[in-house]
Amino acid sequence: MPRGCKPAPITAPPRRASSSQAATILGMSDIKDLQQRVVDFIEARDWRQFHEDPKNTLLALGSELGELMDIYRFTTPEQAQQRVHEYKSDVEDEVADVLYLLLMFCAQNGIDLEEAFLAKEAKREQKYPVGKSKGVSTKYDQL
Ligand SMILES: [Mg+2]
Repeated sequence: MPRGCKPAPITAPPRRASSSQAATILGMSDIKDLQQRVVDFIEARDWRQFHEDPKNTLLALGSELGELMDIYRFTTPEQAQQRVHEYKSDVEDEVADVLYLLLMFCAQNGIDLEEAFLAKEAKREQKYPVGKSKGVSTKYDQL
């Protein structure tokens, strides 16, 4: 973080009660629900034929990430902090595109993103125990 630049607070959006209740009723998590919505979107349009190659999905994912990064291109650290406010709709569109393609890639490859996330989170917790890593940015193998 550059000097004089206040870090943005990291916050999670509030959970929508109706969404969580629906997910519970259906027995699906929010992530699994989103993954199914991507599959349903493709199936309804008979687009599976265009989405069989995971390599193309990864290329599209990289392109969408590039579109998100483009919003921050040529900014000072201070301007970058403001970008999400000035271009909120654009940033939201691009992060949604990135998530959509990540979910599609997982669906194409039989990856349960929620399980993968939780498994990786457990590994991350082991690598970076709070007692050793709090307030320091040292890589796990140097702690
Ligand atoms: Mg886009």
